[in-house]
Formats: sequence, C-alpha cells, structure tokens
Amino acid sequence: MVRDSALALSEAANAKQAGADIVEFRVDEFFDPVAAEADPTRQEREIARLVTESPLPCIVTCRSSKEGGGYSASESDRIDLYGKLVRSEGKHSHPPRYIDIEGFALSALRSEAPGNSQLLQSAADERDLTTGLIVSTHDFQGRPQDLTRRILAMREFPEASVIKVAYRARSLRDNLELFELLRDSDRPTIALGMGEFGLMSRVLSPKFGGFLTFASLRPETVTAPGQPTVNDLLGLYRFRSIRKSTRVYGVIGWPVAHSMSPLVHNAVFAEHKFDGVYLPLPVPSAEGSSPSDAESTFASFKATLGALIDDPHLDFFGASVTIPHKENLVRFARERLKADPGIWSLDALSLATGAANSLLLERENKHIQRARVFNTDIPAAVGPLRAALGGLEGKSIAVIGAGGVARGIAFGLVQDGALVTVFNRTLARATEVVQVLARHLQNPKNLSAEVTEALADLPIFDAYVNCTPVGMTGGPDSAGIAMPFDKLMAANANTGNKSRVSVVLDTVYNPVETPLIRAATSAGWKVIDGVTMFIEQAALQSEAWTDKSAPRQLMDRIVRAKLNQTAE
Ligand code: NAP
Repeated sequence: MVRDSALALSEAANAKQAGADIVEFRVDEFFDPVAAEADPTRQEREIARLVTESPLPCIVTCRSSKEGGGYSASESDRIDLYGKLVRSEGKHSHPPRYIDIEGFALSALRSEAPGNSQLLQSAADERDLTTGLIVSTHDFQGRPQDLTRRILAMREFPEASVIKVAYRARSLRDNLELFELLRDSDRPTIALGMGEFGLMSRVLSPKFGGFLTFASLRPETVTAPGQPTVNDLLGLYRFRSIRKSTRVYGVIGWPVAHSMSPLVHNAVFAEHKFDGVYLPLPVPSAEGSSPSDAESTFASFKATLGALIDDPHLDFFGASVTIPHKENLVRFARERLKADPGIWSLDALSLATGAANSLLLERENKHIQRARVFNTDIPAAVGPLRAALGGLEGKSIAVIGAGGVARGIAFGLVQDGALVTVFNRTLARATEVVQVLARHLQNPKNLSAEVTEALADLPIFDAYVNCTPVGMTGGPDSAGIAMPFDKLMAANANTGNKSRVSVVLDTVYNPVETPLIRAATSAGWKVIDGVTMFIEQAALQSEAWTDKSAPRQLMDRIVRAKLNQTAE
C-alpha cells in the first residue's frame, strides 16, 4: 500500500530480500487531492519512478472507490494513468509487469472507449505487450452470487493475460471451489479466499497451478484479510516445495489461529523432507451450549471434514483434532464406520473415552484404503508418567479435573494398572467420569471420585496430574494451583510423609513453568511439564503419518522457544 514512494521502494527491497518474486504496488491511497492541486503531475511521476526503480518486477494496482479502493479521481484519469505506465515513454523507465483492473471496469472501458484507450491499445498490440493485464473480481463480504457469470465474462476478454478471483471464504469448503477454478482455467489464474478460512487457498495455490499468491511483509501491512506474511509462507509453510503431489494435513479446531501444531508438524515434515504441508483448519462451533448448538457444531464439523476427505484432488491425508471437536471426530468416525466398515477404524482409547485427536487416511491413486481415528493425548500423558514412576502397576495417582483430558488420562492410567482417584471441585462431575469409564474398564474398582479439597487430608499420592486450566496464561486462574498443595504439605509434615517424592504432571503448557510445577519443584518432586505431553501427542501423530521416528528434541526446542518468545 504505497503512501510514500521512497518507503515503498525500500519495502520492495525488503520483500525481495525475504524471497518474493514480484511485488504489488497498491497506489490508490497515494493520490492526495490537496497535493495534486499544487503539482498535478507529481504523483504520476512518483509512480513512474516507483515502477522504474523497483527491485522486483511489479504489479501496479490502483483501485477506485467503486472497486473498494482509495482512488477517488475520475475513471478516465485512472485509465489514463495506467495507459501512461504501460507505454512508459522516458529513456530509463520500464513498464510494470502487470496492471490489475477489475473485470467490470475493463468491460466499461471496452464499451465506452475502445478506440482511444492507450491501455487497451497497448494490451491489444502484441508486439508491444510487455505489460500484462490481471483482470480481477473481488468480494470482501462473501462468495459473490454471480461468481460463475463474472468468471465467464472475464474469460471473454482477449486482453486478460491473468484472471484473478478473490472473495471472503465462508468456510474451509470455499477453498475447494477455488481449487476447482484453478484446475479448470484456460489461462493463468489467481484464486484466493480472503479471511481466516481462506489461508488454505493461499498456501496451496502452487498445488493446483495457481499463478501467484500474495503475502505481506509484516502482519500489520496486509492488504487483504487472511494474507500470511512472506516469512510464514516461505518458512513455516514451505511454499517453494508445495507441488501437485503434496499431501495436506492440518489441525481442526476452534479457535486454531494461534495453535502451535502447524509450527511443530511443518518443522517435522521439513526435517524428514516429507512431501506434506500442515495447516490450521478452523471449523467454528456454535456459540451456546444447548443440545441444538452441539448438533449444529457437529453438522459443520461433519460437512467440512467430509468435504476435505472426499475431495479427489486435495490429497488430504490426516489431521489433528482439538477443542471443541474431539468428541465430534469419534461421532463422525462411528457414522463412517457403519457405512464403510472395511475402511474405517477407531482405536480402543477413542471408543472408551468418546474422544479422539488424530486422523490418518491412507490413499492409493486418490482412493481411501484405510481411515484410522485414534487418540494420542492419552499415551502422551501415560507414557511419561510410566517412565517417571518406573511402571504404573499399583501406583496411586490423583487426577485433578473431570473434563475430557482428565477422563482420557484416568482411563489410560487405570487400564495400565494404576489406582486412580479423580478429584474435581464439583464432586458430581468426578463421579460421572468414574461411572462412565467403569463400563469400559476391566478393573473399575481401581477408579474412584473425590472432591478436590479432600486431597489435603489424604496421604501423598505417587503422582498428581493437573487436568484443569488452572495456572494457564489467560485461563480462569492463571496464578493458581488446582490442588491444595500447601495444605497437603503441611498435613503431611507431621506424618513423616513430607519427604516422600511424588511426581507432578501439569497438562497446562503455557506457561511452561506453571505455579504447580514451581511448587512441586521446590518441594523436590519430579515434574513433567505440559510441553512434554504436547510434544509426545504430536510425535505419535507424526509417526503415524510419516512412518518415521519423530525428532522429539527438535520439536521440544521449537515449542519451548516459541513459548518463551510469546512470554516476553
Ligand atoms: P474441560 O473439559 O473444560 O475441563 C476442565 C476441568 O477443569 C473441569 O473439570 C473443570 O471443573 C475444571 N476447572 C475449570 N476451571 C477451574 C478452576 N478455576 N478451578 C478448579 N477447577 C477448574 O477441559 P479439558 O479439555 O479437559 O482440558 C483441560 C486442560 O488440559 C486444558 O486447560 C489444557 O491446558 C490441558 N491440555 C493439555 C494438552 C497438552 O498436550 N499438554 C492437551 C490438551 C489439553 P468443573 O467440572 O467443576 O467445571
């Protein structure tokens, strides 16, 4: 967005340095009517200089107010400006590589001034054609109802060297239509979804033969909602290595914009030189908590995941599934299992706990051979606890919290021989967890429920697992500890039990050092932090997808560095 030509040139140099191939100068906000009165041709001269001195080939775009831009002078002045740039008389100047014009503006120009527009003449004169025309259509609100008509009209223009379609994606499914547009196109095409749901279309553009994709230098310089930064595009998503065969993975959840999973999984793919990319896949949930809200959340999950799985061109090979869709994944898998028992399967942990976080699809010639839904959250907690305790058989473990994570971990621990008590601030929910799990356990007597306060008066357990958000940055009680730690230590001080070394696993990973981890460390206990669990659940997913052992140390380093950086 050009407001100062010297600054724009230095930003273009930064873009080149960051790895861009071409730069777009949006010049519409550059036109200041007051300055124009003093020196009517200054802005035009400045734009010509911008184009001439640009360190990269450039696209010049001047959007009129009718096109949603900032240019308010007459249409004939705008076309005149474009015409002059295309002709670029002047010894040292060279024309822009492309000029972008909206389809409806080009249509008007063709009918109103076919003979005397320098722009059209130049575009029509193939010998002189050093500047191509990007003919575009935008909708910042949603998918235009007359999208097909607009595209057909743009394809009618012989001058259009590139066709560009950009609209606000309403859900992930809109990306699939944009990819179809790219596949069906008769000439170079840009098809992009704006907003959070459209990121997939921007990153996967090379997979479907898209002509180019846009990125900003910094988050604050985006020119359309949902644009990634050039560093994220090239570094995080490895845009240069995306090709037709690239497999697509991602994290389905709501919200997912700040998930660390893309950072971790893309780094692992890069390390393995694996032909895959991992994206945030936002699937919203209904606002309320009524049964009909839950139904509508499941409906949107089912429609979106179904469309991604069934698309024959996307090469969707798997996903991580997070809050609030872990239960929805199990429900979805049960429905598919009924219809396709030879292909779909659900692991025992997901079946028993009703929640799963992982999906793996195996395809041959695009056709799904196997679809496996499984749970890596539970082994990610149980494994490190087993290692810290030297086995789980007969070990007493306090699980604090009665939500989905507590349910899964309690189940996994009891199944592996531990004696587990579920503690919760509301006893009724803890009791419910025990009742539900008992139906799936061979040794249900090893599981009981208690209210959290009771924990202070009990002897010290072999391990404590925090499954509440207490201690989490931005959570309900970020400075708190979910168990009465001090009271427990005081009560056991007189029994000689105080010196007993216990193990604490805090599932909260932001911050890495929670108040509980700090207190347990000062008491001399062994601690397992939430990052360890997070890495392990991701490592198990990655191993299922890539068939290679996950680089856990690398993953750990990346996550801790990111968390430290955000904490600063
Ligand atoms: P959930 O279903 O919402 O359950 C939360 C539990 O915490 C409930 O039992 C709730 O008690 C209790 N709770 C909430 N606020 C509390 C407070 N202020 N004081 C005491 N108890 C409170 O959540 P979830 O899905 O099980 O997730 C729990 C935690 O696991 C998350 O906060 C997340 O940090 C962590 N997690 C970590 C990983 C990892 O890889 N490290 C992965 C997933 C989740 P009531 O029943 O009384 O409401």
